[in-house]
Amino acid sequence: MMEALVPRPSFPIICLDRDTEMKPELEERYSRQVLFGGIGADGQKRLLESRVAIVGCGATGSALASLLARAGVGTLKIIDRDYVEPSNLQRQTLFDETDAAESLPKAVAAARKIASFNSHIIAEPLAHDLTPENIGELLGGVQLILDGTDNFETRYLINDYAVKNSLPWIYTAAVGSYAATMNVLPGDTACLACIFPESPTGTIETCETAGILNSAVNFAASIAATEALKLLTGARQNLRRTLISWDLWKNERAEVSTEKPRADCQTCAKRDFIHLAGTGRPHITLCGRNSVQIHEHHRPINLGDISERLRLHGSVRRNDFVLKFWKGPFEMTLFPDGRAIIKGTTDTAVARSLYAKYVGS
Ligand SMILES: [Zn+2]
Repeated sequence: MMEALVPRPSFPIICLDRDTEMKPELEERYSRQVLFGGIGADGQKRLLESRVAIVGCGATGSALASLLARAGVGTLKIIDRDYVEPSNLQRQTLFDETDAAESLPKAVAAARKIASFNSHIIAEPLAHDLTPENIGELLGGVQLILDGTDNFETRYLINDYAVKNSLPWIYTAAVGSYAATMNVLPGDTACLACIFPESPTGTIETCETAGILNSAVNFAASIAATEALKLLTGARQNLRRTLISWDLWKNERAEVSTEKPRADCQTCAKRDFIHLAGTGRPHITLCGRNSVQIHEHHRPINLGDISERLRLHGSVRRNDFVLKFWKGPFEMTLFPDGRAIIKGTTDTAVARSLYAKYVGS
């Protein structure tokens, strides 16, 4: 049963050595990073005292967690609602074949792997779906949030929370050969809603439907992790103030200034936090004995187009009014306005995850 694979309670904290005085073994471990002028001994000490959350531990989240754990960020909260599958191993660098065979929650597998290469930091696995109800508890006490998610629904939620609480966060995305990232520094730069006032509508390209190059993932994560290091060590003047994107296959690069927040931004100017209030996300309910309904009504979907894409991943049947898609133990029924019924689970996190992967959210 899938539900059993995403346990509700958080797992115990792993690897407890929080003495941030630089012991000889730590001096040795971080010596090449301390030698780098931008970090130095003071910067390293700051990193060891830092608390960072990574929301989503798929491909970009894995790369971010690995880089920051190796760099000595003292506490990493790893939040993820999924479990490891064989198709993840091409790009999700914290997981191995055993994790996939055991269908371990990604948060748990990630924390275990981190403990195996850096037992001097805290990696706290939180196998949860980030929602308006639990975001305060899950992200409480961190000084920076990193985006390892695969969907805009969660990113807008993070943006609301970060702007409301004046917390910096770093947007990171990768799909196909495309990589993008942007720093959001509330009170200073534009926020996500300044740049993208409206959530993308219709069917969105996802790693499941458009594929993904592992190099695009690592590229985006490397830039975002470097920005995180600047922020955590106090090198704010070096932070990038643009949304930057590359298509690594087509050699195309674009950069948009994020220097100035938009004067009429609903989130950072008007401080109207609709995603945090829960009104910005589709309502989700249990329906029937073993299914979940996602009450999306604002994502017009071309059933013809999506059936071509989903055919690569499972069985599809459709008429003009409805599409049915079978994937493993799940059956997704999709309507033209974006509404979906997912059979085979009573876990809303599993349903949201499937929707984000195959339809986009
Ligand atoms: Zn804004």
